[in-house]
This record gives sequence, structure tokens and C-alpha cells, in this order.
Amino acid sequence: MTLKVVILGANGFIGSALTTAILRTRAWEVYAMDLFANKLAHVVLLNFPLTTLEERLSGDQWPRRQWAEAKLALRFSRRVPSEVNLAIGKAVAEASQFVATYNIWMHHVLGPSGERPFPAKMRLLEHWNLRDEIKADYSDRSNGLLKQRMIQRVMERIVDGTIPDAVVDNPRVDWNPFTNEVKASAIVDYDPAAIPEQPVTNTASSARYGMILHTFRAVKLADPYSPTAPTHIARKFNEERQLPEARVKAMLERIVGSPLVPRVAAIIEQRLGRKLQPFDLWYNGFRPRAQYTDEQLDEIVRKRYPTADAYARDMPRLLEQIGFTKERAAYLAARIAVDPARGSGHALPSSRRGDKPRLRTRVGTEGMDYKGFNIAVHEMGHTVEQVFSLNDIDYYTLASVPNNAFTEALAFVFQAKDLELLGLAQPSREARAEQTLNDFWGTYEIAGVALVEMEMWHWMYDHPEAAPAELRDATVRIARDVWNRWYAPVFGQRDVTLLGVYAHMVNNLLYLPDYPIGHMIAFQIEQQMEKAGNIGSEFERMAKFGSVTPDLWMRHATGAPVGPDALLAATEKAVAAAR
Ligand SMILES: [Zn+2]
Repeated sequence: MTLKVVILGANGFIGSALTTAILRTRAWEVYAMDLFANKLAHVVLLNFPLTTLEERLSGDQWPRRQWAEAKLALRFSRRVPSEVNLAIGKAVAEASQFVATYNIWMHHVLGPSGERPFPAKMRLLEHWNLRDEIKADYSDRSNGLLKQRMIQRVMERIVDGTIPDAVVDNPRVDWNPFTNEVKASAIVDYDPAAIPEQPVTNTASSARYGMILHTFRAVKLADPYSPTAPTHIARKFNEERQLPEARVKAMLERIVGSPLVPRVAAIIEQRLGRKLQPFDLWYNGFRPRAQYTDEQLDEIVRKRYPTADAYARDMPRLLEQIGFTKERAAYLAARIAVDPARGSGHALPSSRRGDKPRLRTRVGTEGMDYKGFNIAVHEMGHTVEQVFSLNDIDYYTLASVPNNAFTEALAFVFQAKDLELLGLAQPSREARAEQTLNDFWGTYEIAGVALVEMEMWHWMYDHPEAAPAELRDATVRIARDVWNRWYAPVFGQRDVTLLGVYAHMVNNLLYLPDYPIGHMIAFQIEQQMEKAGNIGSEFERMAKFGSVTPDLWMRHATGAPVGPDALLAATEKAVAAAR
């Protein structure tokens, strides 16, 4: 009994042993192993029972202390041997390297009639850069459509595995993705010393799917050591997301099957002046008209914030303007450290009460520019959440939020106020409607991608001995099925495989459903803030509830569980405004 008190004491000895690594990062299993080695984990498990997701989902009436105990035990729900963790880390690193070198040299990709519309030296990474080029091509009035069609063909060949191995990261060949013909190239827009010569063939392999199977087999090694969640699928949904897979699937299907989809599609067709093409999955024309130029904004921000210190000194005012009382604003500002960032910016949480989270943003030699400010305001949202959810929470083991999507949603509440904080006008209603339509269309796209990835993982568990070519065929079939069910009626074309193109599927191990769930959560929180009108006290009330299940957190925050209703309601309004 005494032991329980010690373990749960706010800053007790275990409080310092359970560091950031356990509370806030993905690498916690490695540290959990240390705590098994020094027997602390056994002490926890002997004192506090492990719970299943089902039990936690029915724990709405649990006292807070019971939640704190359940969360503590949950950190030791698996005892995965270090050699298994090493094997998983190695497989993921290899898959990440595969993804990071999967480039297509676009000047060497030929159009249906041998055109060469992409500029010399352009090298695009699968799939991010290819997708972003589709987005950028909407503004190219002469060649945009041709380029988008070509990229679609490239993507389809990546998904169905017919892309010749010789064209991956190789500018020594020209490739026509329509005929799949490969020829030695006469154009040298690369450093010949950096690109090894290789045979010019159009032989294809299933390397992409071999890599997916490689990571699948590595994470599967952890199955026997994870009694409460014996598959990677169960671990992702039941222990990491804490949302049952069936519910996630139902939420995603409410997005892709929403009657709003054809209405938004009609707006896109009207703006493009043509029927939708499959690559319009990545349509990027929903954009608020900018009221200020980048130069104007940069000048205003530079003057105001020549150093990171200047931003730190202004924080009490910024927080007051966001909606915190003078007292709370001062309290928060005194507990956040501001540093200039080396990279683009981030928020580094502290894991011990009283330590300051670090708000990091880019400050150039001439001072902070608008982009740096916009990021600083976003990161300030994270650090405020971190101060409340660590220092002002009742139980240490409940510190933080249910998952990443929640802290991102809270940070976006701050970020959306950035212009107001500079004394400028906020975006108009029309601009906000455009932003909502953009978010909805993006959620529609990524929900389908997530459904494909989820089904692919089930197929792998059903066929653990599959060869790469078999996984390739299954994935193509799954991508087509999801498309034919939810996208073909909107796009007017069947059997499109584009939903299988995401590089995340190769090395991120069932991460994709987090994106659409994150959009839904952001709209729920935004809707609640609007309804309540008082951001300061609402933010604090939400952030102090801690890392319980997402549904319980959201019911406490908004009165409803996690779901797509807020996003759909906002989209309904935006569609009406866009007409
Ligand atoms: Zn963020």
C-alpha cells in the first residue's frame, strides 16, 4: 500500500525514473526493458493490474486515481526482448533508406508522344515530391495537365510494380511510363561520377513489397511478448491510438462515403472547367486569398522580434491576447523557455515537473521572419499544453494528452490567431471556408489511403509467408476495391490504384490512419473553442485532463467522443459559402 503512494507521488522517485522516453516518445519500449531489468517494472505489475482497451473504454466512471494506475501499468504491457526491438529498428531503418533513395529523374520521363515537359535535373522522391509536383502543376497553364497525367502513370507503375528497376534514381536512362520503354539517355543533367552505370533494361521487381514484408516480419517478432495486444494491428489501435480498429474504420467510411464529397467535387470541377481526373485527389485550389504579401509580413515581424528574447518578453501579452487572464498568461510565460532553433522549429516537452518546456523557432540574423513567427505561435500552443498537462495535472502518470493528434489540434488553435497577434486582420469567413474545403478534400484523400493500408496489414497477417509478388497483387486489388467503392462514383473512373502509392506504407507501419483522425480531432476542438468563446479557460480545462482514452478526453472537452461530425458540419457550411 505504501508502495502505491510512493509510485504515484507527484514527483516521487519513479517520477524521475519514468522520463520523457517513456511518457512522450516512441522509443519507450527500450527504456521499459531497463525497468524490467532493475525490477521496477515487476513492482508496478505486481501492484497494478494490466487492462485491456475494452476495460479502459468502459472506464468512464473510473476515479482519476484508477486511470493513473491503469496508465502506469500500461507502460509495461509488453516485455519485448532487446534483440527483437533491435531487429524492428534495423528493418525500419532499411525501409526508410529504401524510401529515401526512391527518386524519379523527371527530365528523363517521356510523355505519350515523347515529350519532355519536366525541367533538367528535377529529381522527385516517391511519393511526397511526386504528389507535390501534381499540386504545383495546377498553376502551369501550358503543360500542367500533361505533367499531371505523366505523374499519375509513374505512380501507377510504382503501385503495380511494373516500374523498371533501372529507372529508380537513375538519370542515365529515358523512360516512357505509358509504353514502359527504357532507353539509354543522351542528356546529361547529372554528375556522372555520382551515378553508377547499370544495365539498360525494363525488368521490374517487387522490391517495394519485399520491403513492406521485411518490416511486417520484424514487428511480428514482438507478437509473442505482447499478451494484451498480440498483433501489430492490435498494438497500433488498442494500445497506441486507444481507438478500436472497427470504430476507426467506421469513422473513415463516414468521410469517404459522405454526401458532401460529390458536392465538393462539383465545386472542384467547376473551378477546373473539366471533369475530375484521378490525380485531382491532390487538388490544391482551395486557398484563401492572401491579404498581405510575404514581404509585408516579414517586415512587421522582424521589427517586432529581432531576437528570440524579444519574443519571450512579449509572451505574456501574446497569451493574454489569445484569451488567457493576465495572471494565467504570466504564469505560463514564466514556465516556457524560448530558444532560437537550428532546424525549422519544434516544442521540446519537459518530463519533470518544474522544468521548462522549450519553444524553439528560427530567428535569422535580421530577426524573426513571418514563417518563424507562425511556427513560434504554433509551438507556443504545444508548450502551453505541456505546462498545463504536466504541472497542473493531478497524477503524474496521466501527464500529456491521449496522442499526438490532440496536441497538434491544440497548437493549431494558437496558430490560427497569428495575424491577430500581430495586430492585423484575421482571415475572412470566405478564407476560412476555403481552408475547411481544403482540409475536407485532404481528409477524403488520406482516409482512403488509410483504409488501404489497414486492409493490407490484415492481408499480411492472413498470409504471413507470402512472397513479395503476392503482396503486390493483393495490395493492387485492395487499392482498386477501395477506389471502386468510394472514389469511382465521384471520379467516374474505375480500377484506379493511386491510393496505394504512399511511401508511409513501406516504412511507417500502420501510421496513416493518424492523419484523418487528426483532422477530425482538430475540427472538434476548434468547434468547441468557438462555441465556448473563451479560449484561455477552455484550453486549460482541456489540457489538464491528461492521457486518458481519446474518447473520454474528447467527451470531457466537447461532450462527444472522437468522430467526424465537427469536420462534416464545418464542411457543410463551407460548401454553402463557396457557392
Ligand atoms: Zn506541432
